Amino acid sequence: MTFAPLAAVPAPEPGAGPWPANLTRVDGDLHLAGHSLTALAEEGTPLYLVDEADMRNRARAWVSAIGDGDVYYAGKSFLTPAVARWMVEEGLSIDTASEGELRTALAGGVPGERIGLHGNSKSDSTLRLALESGVGRIVIDSPGEVDQLAAIAEETGTVAPCFVRVTTGVHAGGHDFIATAHEDQKFGLSLATGAAREVAVAMSENPHLELLGLHSHIGSQILDSEGFAAAASAVIDFAAELFGIGIDVPEVDLGGGYGIQYTGLDPEPATEAEMIAGIRSAIETACERAGIPVPRLSIEPGRSISGPPGMTLYRVGATKDVMTDDGVRRYVSVDGGMSDNIRPALYGADYTALLGRDSSADNVPSRVVGMHCESGDIVVRDVALPADVRRGDLLLVAATGAYGRSMASNYNLVRRPGVLAVSEQGTSWLVRPETWDDILGIFPDR
Ligand SMILES: *Cc1c(COP(=O)(O)O)cnc(C)c1O
Repeated sequence: MTFAPLAAVPAPEPGAGPWPANLTRVDGDLHLAGHSLTALAEEGTPLYLVDEADMRNRARAWVSAIGDGDVYYAGKSFLTPAVARWMVEEGLSIDTASEGELRTALAGGVPGERIGLHGNSKSDSTLRLALESGVGRIVIDSPGEVDQLAAIAEETGTVAPCFVRVTTGVHAGGHDFIATAHEDQKFGLSLATGAAREVAVAMSENPHLELLGLHSHIGSQILDSEGFAAAASAVIDFAAELFGIGIDVPEVDLGGGYGIQYTGLDPEPATEAEMIAGIRSAIETACERAGIPVPRLSIEPGRSISGPPGMTLYRVGATKDVMTDDGVRRYVSVDGGMSDNIRPALYGADYTALLGRDSSADNVPSRVVGMHCESGDIVVRDVALPADVRRGDLLLVAATGAYGRSMASNYNLVRRPGVLAVSEQGTSWLVRPETWDDILGIFPDR
């Protein structure tokens, strides 16, 4: 019996595809901004690494592309006080989606007026903190939130700066976008049913709220401006409808979801400048058609800033060859997994991995798996790795900077890895690695 070889491609070499800008190969070792990964691994593995210069450059690229407009870094993708500070230093504001993210941005010294607050179910205490901190925008996501927020604004003697999150019916992801009239998901207020209009009217009539703009977020991993342009045009039509009844919409926020390369097979996304040009042209066309002034533009990129600069460094454990219908697949286990990157298990997300040393061995179709008690605990579904991968090797997984540490768990009571910022100037912990005391410390009366 013979088996066809499994399709698997090796990870692209550093300098291309999903790798951080400052990853290089030097004499059988990989280096990040001049630091040997073999040496960095002495901090312990798994270890998240962040190429600080790359992350700052990506942030700055959005700021220069948008020009007269605002870039809110989506903190849910990865936020620490230091990261919040980097973003503000590069000219961005911070988008938060929980009290913890809000507190983290504030702890980083971000001025309240440069923070936005999202959430489909915000608590009274979170809204109170937001108003007391003077946040620049609170994005209203449901009808009941109008009265909830107005009451807290009255109590704190403030006027709440608000956006309304609308659902345009445009959903985008990857290459495609689809437009549907009806929605069956928890976020936003429908344009089609009139829910968004009712809320906008209620807000404009409420003295404790100030309507600053409309918000739309259409999806994630979007590679070109087409879907954003369709959403922008629907949002502008709604702004024109509000304009017609005397409600001004000074700003439009088109959310995040700008795609990145995770593997060598992923197409290259449009540049920041191409994205913004496509969006601006759709907004201008729609405004001209509707005869309303062009509103200010803001966006909320997350992964396109924090994803590619981040990587996870693992140590290889057990390996085994498994016979499949398509041939032999090598299973390479590492010392982390779904606890430090849930995305493959949660969404079937694909990643790629590179061996941390040179090898002249032939590549074999491989699957990188974690150490957790779930068969869905996959780190990299398909990748060609050298046949001599063995216990103790270092393995580097690309583009884990977004939604890696921020979605990490303690499943199997593992310690969540630390996040080390690396630059030519040196290294510093953005998040310290958890210790066994952190794990045992959560149990009372032990
Ligand atoms: C998740 C999210 C973002 C960021 O998405 P990315 O894919 O990381 O760019 C921005 N805005 C809102 C409202 C979101 O929910």
